Amino acid sequence: MADHYEVLGVSRDASPEEIKKAYRRLARELHPDVNPGEEASERFKLVTHAYDVLSDPEQRQRYDLGGDGSPFGGGGGAGFGGFGDIFETFFGGGGARTARPRSRRERGQDALVRVTLDLKDVVFGTHRDLEVDTAVLCETCEGSCCQPGTQPVTCDICQGSGQVQRTVRSLLGNVVTSQPCTTCQGYGTTIPYPCASCQGQGRVRARRTVSVDIPAGVETGLRLQLPGSGEVGPAGGPNGDLYLEVTVAHDDVFSRDGDDLLATLEVSMPDAILGANTTITSLDGDVDLEVRPGVQSGDVLTIKGRGITPLRGGNRGDLRVGVQVVTPTKLDAKTRALIEDFKKKTKSPEPQLAQFHQGLFSKLRDRFRG
Ligand SMILES: [Zn+2]
Ligand SMILES: [Zn+2]
Repeated sequence: MADHYEVLGVSRDASPEEIKKAYRRLARELHPDVNPGEEASERFKLVTHAYDVLSDPEQRQRYDLGGDGSPFGGGGGAGFGGFGDIFETFFGGGGARTARPRSRRERGQDALVRVTLDLKDVVFGTHRDLEVDTAVLCETCEGSCCQPGTQPVTCDICQGSGQVQRTVRSLLGNVVTSQPCTTCQGYGTTIPYPCASCQGQGRVRARRTVSVDIPAGVETGLRLQLPGSGEVGPAGGPNGDLYLEVTVAHDDVFSRDGDDLLATLEVSMPDAILGANTTITSLDGDVDLEVRPGVQSGDVLTIKGRGITPLRGGNRGDLRVGVQVVTPTKLDAKTRALIEDFKKKTKSPEPQLAQFHQGLFSKLRDRFRG
């Protein structure tokens, strides 16, 4: 028989809410209306039975103590003198589980900060000093939680075990249960003189500066992990991690395609016909660019090695510039006459159909829109 807790995927000390939540989630997934099939149906039955038992406090207690198909039980009690005996078999002579006080020191929580980068930061990598608001070690008590010169004392109520035992009469006979000591919250000690600076927490909130080198090639949504830079734990426990979530701001000129950068170069009709030498301002600074005579809309000029350094390392991508020939729209009478003359002299063909051309440039532009 499968363990009911395992069937629901919850821990043995799960709260009724957690059990209910786990059941609802599984039921939605496995319900025969949603998931027809033999296997799902079998699992649905198991899940439902596990929930029936664990959602009823009395049945759950009985199950925990070894009855009702529990893996701790003896298969219907055969060979055992009763549940009281089973309980004693498992936990020894009416005693309780070996109690151990819990530690005040715990690992601190992870912290998340968000940072917005320009595309240029992505190309070259960057350095940031980030203001982070987290818990840091209390300097007065150095995490001991006690006023300097004082110490925790053993709890009178539980004698330092952190647990108190209670004998409960139940239909299973006398059952000894163990619960965290409410006087010391299960720590086994109390602090008679808590540190005034941190109210006995061993840590205080503070704003500090974290210096981070952000590598080239990061992208929106990426989280960089800085181990041990998160919150210090209670009572000076080890630090959690700090996560840096990156957002890359929109750039008006350049966009990114993998490790390449994309941009559009607008070329006037005369320059497209005659060719031109120009200087563009890339993220690397000025770059000379030659537009060959007769360049067409959709041609792509590639500038090697001026793209993004991949996050995993390696060579920089390229800068790809798509040409767009700009047709003049406002002509005075004289210019118009020149163009008409040009048309006659070059015997320009009439507009005509040709095969549909899904050039690189149209792909470039699709990406710009997305
Ligand atoms: Zn303190
Ligand atoms: Zn206690």
